[in-house]
Amino acid sequence: MNGFHYISFAQEVIFASGALAQVPEPAERFGWRRLMLCTSRSVRATGQIDVLATILGDSLVAVFDHVQPHVQDAQVKEALALAAENNVDVVMGIGGGSPIGMAKAVGFQLHLPIIAIPTTYAGSEMTPVYGITHTDEDPPRKVTVNDPKIAPKLVVYDPQLTLDLPPKLTASTGINALAHCIEALYSKMRNPLSTSAAIQGVQHIHNALFNCYQDGNNLDARTEMFLGSHLAGLSLASVSMGLHHGLCHVLGGSANIPHGIANNIILPHAIRFNAEVTAPQLLPAAEAMGLPVNGSNPKIVMEALAQKIHELIGRMNLPQRLRDVGVSEADLPRLAQLAFQNRTVQNNPKPITDVMQLEQLLRDAW
Ligand code: NAD
Repeated sequence: MNGFHYISFAQEVIFASGALAQVPEPAERFGWRRLMLCTSRSVRATGQIDVLATILGDSLVAVFDHVQPHVQDAQVKEALALAAENNVDVVMGIGGGSPIGMAKAVGFQLHLPIIAIPTTYAGSEMTPVYGITHTDEDPPRKVTVNDPKIAPKLVVYDPQLTLDLPPKLTASTGINALAHCIEALYSKMRNPLSTSAAIQGVQHIHNALFNCYQDGNNLDARTEMFLGSHLAGLSLASVSMGLHHGLCHVLGGSANIPHGIANNIILPHAIRFNAEVTAPQLLPAAEAMGLPVNGSNPKIVMEALAQKIHELIGRMNLPQRLRDVGVSEADLPRLAQLAFQNRTVQNNPKPITDVMQLEQLLRDAW
């Protein structure tokens, strides 16, 4: 067995149907009195923010409710000013990865603790990372910031909050969670905790995602899927990411593709690209997705895994080609070049030494 090294984060996690109502108790215990909430318009439209505002009462002193996808730098400045004006002592993100990313950006820059209440399966609530998009660059560029202080101190999972999540977002953010497990399994920094969490994560996502897509009101499936995305986020929290996440950041920041959709399109290609190096680590994922593994050729199992994920994405009616989400063939060399310079892409377990490797992958995904 190889040695290992990882950092874990002192986080309090509450997971229960109806858990939203429990937020004041730990807030009181931590001594948080002036809370700022970050969210997006469509989460506000579900009515959940009004419910939370009632629960929080006077401790809610500021609301930034128009977070855009991919956490844009200009919006972060605006939110920082709002936090400073209101002298807040804790920043909460409620919604998908974008409002949680905004809360992380504001909390980290102002040295304040962060609360995360997810309503999608993106998994950001568990990780010490956020992405920020520099919109003054041409093309805009998304960069990630890593620091243990970014990991939210309090994470509240209430499966009832996901009942409103539309099928397309259920599907695409669920595949994002699956991608966390896949990259955690073959990460250069994988460790026993990340591997165990990732295998269990794949199992729960495999059991629950399609059921959530078919019937958004199935609370049992929603609960199991949230457990899967929690484990996915946990698995990613103590490892470094590779080609898949790096490419999705480039496609999100520079081609403005929603993060979940970029994940759907890239994941099967990233599995195929890495197969010759990462098959031994991904065999448990294949097994957790119901594929026969024992005695089979690992390369054939990897192709079956990529195909099975591709078919699941197809059954959930998500776009599967870059051409279907507004990327032109002429954009591919430029995107490949940006990806070649991306440090997450370059952290891939299979070395990437020639930009043409990436251009070919993008052509396959186009
Ligand atoms: P998102 O937060 O941009 O949300 C997508 C859409 O879903 C938005 O319109 C939002 O308002 C809507 N939405 C969210 N919850 C809803 C609900 N319950 N009902 C109705 N609508 C709802 O997308 P995302 O895929 O959750 O997150 C993507 C972002 O998070 C990207 O910026 C990505 O880079 C980041 N991310 C970061 C990490 C990390 O570890 N730091 C992990 C995953 C994703």
